Amino acid sequence: MSALLNRRVAAGCCCRLWPTVSQSLVHIRTQSAAEPGTTKADEEHLWEAAAGYLPFSRARIGPFFQDQPVLKNPFLEDALLKGYLRRHLPEEAVFSDLSAFGERLAKEVDTWGRECEVNPPRLVHFDPWGRRVDHIVTSEAWKRMKDLSAREGLVAIGYEKLFGEWSRVYQMSKLYIYSPSSGLYSCPLAMTDGAAKVIQSIGLPPVCEEAFGRLTSRQPERFWTSGQWMTERQGGSDVGSGTETVAVPQTDGSYKLHGFKWFTSATDANMSLTLARAQDSRGATTPGSKGLSLFYAEVSRDEDGLLRGIEVQRLKEKLGTRQMPTAELLLDGLPAHRLSEEGRGVASIANMLTITRIHNSVSAVAGMRRVVLLARDYATRRTVFGKLLKDHPLHVQTLARMEVETRGAFLLVMELCRLLGREESGLASQLDAHLLRLLTPVVKLYTGKQAVAVISEGLESFGGQGYIEDTGLPGMLRDAQVLSIWEGTTNVLSLDVLRCVARSSGMVLHAYFTHVKSLLAGASSVSSLTPAVKAVGGALSELEEFVQVAASKGPNYLELASRDLAYSLARIYAGALLIDHACWKEASPHDTYAALRWCEQDLCLVVTKQKSGCYESSTAPLDSGLVYE
Ligand SMILES: Cc1cc2nc3c(=O)[nH]c(=O)nc-3n(C[C@H](O)[C@H](O)[C@H](O)COP(=O)(O)OP(=O)(O)OC[C@H]3O[C@@H](n4cnc5c(N)ncnc54)[C@H](O)[C@@H]3O)c2cc1C
Repeated sequence: MSALLNRRVAAGCCCRLWPTVSQSLVHIRTQSAAEPGTTKADEEHLWEAAAGYLPFSRARIGPFFQDQPVLKNPFLEDALLKGYLRRHLPEEAVFSDLSAFGERLAKEVDTWGRECEVNPPRLVHFDPWGRRVDHIVTSEAWKRMKDLSAREGLVAIGYEKLFGEWSRVYQMSKLYIYSPSSGLYSCPLAMTDGAAKVIQSIGLPPVCEEAFGRLTSRQPERFWTSGQWMTERQGGSDVGSGTETVAVPQTDGSYKLHGFKWFTSATDANMSLTLARAQDSRGATTPGSKGLSLFYAEVSRDEDGLLRGIEVQRLKEKLGTRQMPTAELLLDGLPAHRLSEEGRGVASIANMLTITRIHNSVSAVAGMRRVVLLARDYATRRTVFGKLLKDHPLHVQTLARMEVETRGAFLLVMELCRLLGREESGLASQLDAHLLRLLTPVVKLYTGKQAVAVISEGLESFGGQGYIEDTGLPGMLRDAQVLSIWEGTTNVLSLDVLRCVARSSGMVLHAYFTHVKSLLAGASSVSSLTPAVKAVGGALSELEEFVQVAASKGPNYLELASRDLAYSLARIYAGALLIDHACWKEASPHDTYAALRWCEQDLCLVVTKQKSGCYESSTAPLDSGLVYE
């Protein structure tokens, strides 16, 4: 007992610096339990006596705090991005722009992104005097993102084409480092880019020539964003039968739209492209996709400050993407102009979908990269079981697996951008065009799923802190969940893959097989890559066989196989790209390692599943029985 007191007093007198006190007290506390003759009351009394030195009393909450992960320049930190650009677009201007932008993202813009999350948009229906205003109030940070996007040319770069066929790669590289810091401003930019592409592809009709200039402007005061209003209550995937909005012709050749748009993101946009059914002179419309036309509408206010022809019903309460206003809109006589021929709405908006799906894929891989960057930084700061996380091989293995997923996804996305750039520069071969068509849904659906898995794993790598809202980490997972839903769900895109195979009479697959083989051929003499080349080559042969067999089966068989087919197409193609990148003369051993690791997985899932008979006609009722038991 006296020994106990002495030790405490000694600690108290000599060690006013409390970190030291903390150590001795913890030590004493452990010992005191064993002190013979010490009662509980004595203990409490003594603790109170020493309270001046308690490290965990009142305002003192202990000396130890976990270090938070630090976001460093996301361009300079990304070895694969830098390597990819050095290989394909070794332009000083691009490197210095991305490097400077990356610095700004880490030092300034990332905080704005957080602000967008903390101050989400809100809808003010009425002014203080009761007049309807439908004003969507957004944060200052959200507004700054608009200016920044214009100044940095985040849409413009794709249209200025300063780097020819590589301009899209440049633009998307910039968006890729921006997206996770953008407070979801990447979403309006995707639709803005998509709208510009549609307007350009239909030959810049005079009615929206000005809009095109604004969508692709670098001047903040001129810059416009666009929405894309397709989803209605009856259908988002199924717009063909789900669209109820009608377009009533006006005497001047324009239209007024009446309908209800169920999901409209970035509703603070300046304009939108939308689908509606044009009425004929008797007021009748044509059902199905054939009845849909594409319309251009500006979002404006009348002299009383009311939105022209639009009522904002409410903002959606969303799991994630809360930074961005997503609304339900009643279109009540919205002035609009038809852009497509009558009944060609779905075909005309296809260009928009190609662009937005590529943006979606960019955001997916950007989210993965960001969580990996933060997780690897955190692993250099957090000590557990006596050493830093980075020195625990199992933890690093987990990070390495995330890295492999991210690398495969990155190369898939950049491949899409490369193909898009070639198409837009008039350099695309037939093979390139087929690949772009096939890979757009494949990459979108695959990266959307990967993002959720990788980001979820990423959150776990921060332990409990990964679950804590104001670290900003959980928002990454919530935001990622939408990536597999909008711009086509996984199943809907899997069916789109089948559709494009059928419509091209298999030519898209032919292009796929040809290109993957050519990538593998380039690696045939690189012994370090042999296992990966073998794995991809074997999977490709299996896939070719599967396609032959499946072609003789009915449509139901293909439908059931479509999702696994799409996954197989993605995994094999990513494997080939990783191998190809590892063959580049300046590639690092890590590029080879990533290729080998990627190719260890089941690359041809569709054949594995086929062997279990799960696409046979007997399976559908079994699935149904299981689900509805
Ligand atoms: C945050 C957010 C923002 C959005 N912003 C916009 C926007 O700005 N503009 C816009 O137009 N839309 C927007 N959407 C809507 C989105 O694009 C649609 O929700 C999406 O396309 C799915 O359509 P749906 O909701 O009608 O689902 P459904 O089509 O009803 O799908 C339900 C389920 O059925 C599956 N399914 C559907 N068809 C088939 C099939 N044939 N075979 C097998 N499975 C099938 C789907 O995969 C899905 O799992 C947004 C959605 C969200 C969540």
